Amino acid sequence: MITQSCCNDASCVAACPVQCIRPRPGDPDFTTTEQLYIDPATCIDCGACAAECPVEAIIHHTELPDRMEEFRSINADYFTEHPLGDVTPQAVARRRLPQDKPHLRVAVVGSGPAALYAAGELSEMRRVEVTIIERLPTPYGLARFGVAPDHERTRRMTDRFAPVLRRPNVTCLFDTEAGRDVSIEELRRHHHAVIWATGAFADRPLGVPGEELEGSVSARDFVAWYNGHPDFSDHRFDLSGRRAVVIGNGNVALDIARLLAQPVTAYEQTSISPQALQALRASGVREVMIVARRGPAHAAYSTGELLALANLSEVDLLALPDETSTEAAPASDVADPSPSDMRRRLAAVRAAAARTP
Ligand SMILES: Cc1cc2nc3c(=O)[nH]c(=O)nc-3n(C[C@H](O)[C@H](O)[C@H](O)COP(=O)(O)OP(=O)(O)OC[C@H]3O[C@@H](n4cnc5c(N)ncnc54)[C@H](O)[C@@H]3O)c2cc1C
Ligand code: SF4
Ligand code: SF4
Repeated sequence: MITQSCCNDASCVAACPVQCIRPRPGDPDFTTTEQLYIDPATCIDCGACAAECPVEAIIHHTELPDRMEEFRSINADYFTEHPLGDVTPQAVARRRLPQDKPHLRVAVVGSGPAALYAAGELSEMRRVEVTIIERLPTPYGLARFGVAPDHERTRRMTDRFAPVLRRPNVTCLFDTEAGRDVSIEELRRHHHAVIWATGAFADRPLGVPGEELEGSVSARDFVAWYNGHPDFSDHRFDLSGRRAVVIGNGNVALDIARLLAQPVTAYEQTSISPQALQALRASGVREVMIVARRGPAHAAYSTGELLALANLSEVDLLALPDETSTEAAPASDVADPSPSDMRRRLAAVRAAAARTP
């Protein structure tokens, strides 16, 4: 079964001898799917996919923990709506430099997942040299400073990237900011190509009056702080209030809600920053409200993440009963999910609405 931590990188797809993992790159729903799925009726339990998964998202059906039980039907339901169809393996092209190119030097700016997937693909080719330029003293971008500290499986993604940094044809320049320590002209002069993989560097203002007031902070700053990002080590966040409000309902909103709502003991053995751990120990927050424009059917979070929050024994996840229908919150900015996704999303929120704290 493919479970909650799937990051859709499709590493497992080519490994499957019976091609029963969907959607595959190129399928119409590949870029919008919440996660990939295994067809339980076709899978032969060979385990090849699990060995390829960078985040240990694939779990044998006999070893599925109770809190992930829903993923049994989540995987199967996908194939009710999308029958498996063509199981011809996708062509895997072996990349090589054209004969008339004696060598290729590429600068990759950034060392997050985008940079390291690019550097990995390039440095597999002979006669290619890659220079990675990273402004921080450490690699991995948001895979280290964004992914929640309690998402240990996802954070293990960095283990897959580490060998790329050690390849003999890859040079790493840390503590080096492109545009400040090295100019774009210099990079272009010494390389045949420059790849910019610098991530999302700034916040997008909401345009809501008062968003600049004290106590209103961006998720980017808060997440960077609790993950120990060096730019945010001296930040202070006031957690003395009883109720915190998170605006937006994507997976980052759920990461923050989980962090604020769970007992601090859930984070003591994680890589959370010492400052954040200390602040959480003194936190007065007892209630977290998630306020969002989109309703539950169109929310940006994945169902797996919502279920994970709902299944925490120390957290009561509640939803307002009048907000659990599609009519209550039609989305104007995103397409409707597939009928099975819609059913699953609403079922998860209705279950929360039916609870008493
Ligand atoms: C809070 C949060 C939680 C997340 N959780 C998950 C999750 O659980 N699962 C999942 O699959 N995805 C998760 N994501 C998404 C994932 O982290 C991002 O999609 C991914 O990291 C983006 O990769 P990137 O390489 O484009 O950018 P980044 O990871 O942001 O990397 C950009 C890198 O470029 C460097 N850089 C920037 N400017 C310069 C410059 N001028 N010179 C040199 N270096 C520079 C930065 O320091 C950084 O290291 C999460 C994201 C956030 C914000
Ligand atoms: S375990 Fe199943 S899904 Fe995974 S590679 Fe083998 S047959 Fe494919
Ligand atoms: S390899 Fe793992 S993370 Fe990647 S798509 Fe497959 S299940 Fe998801």
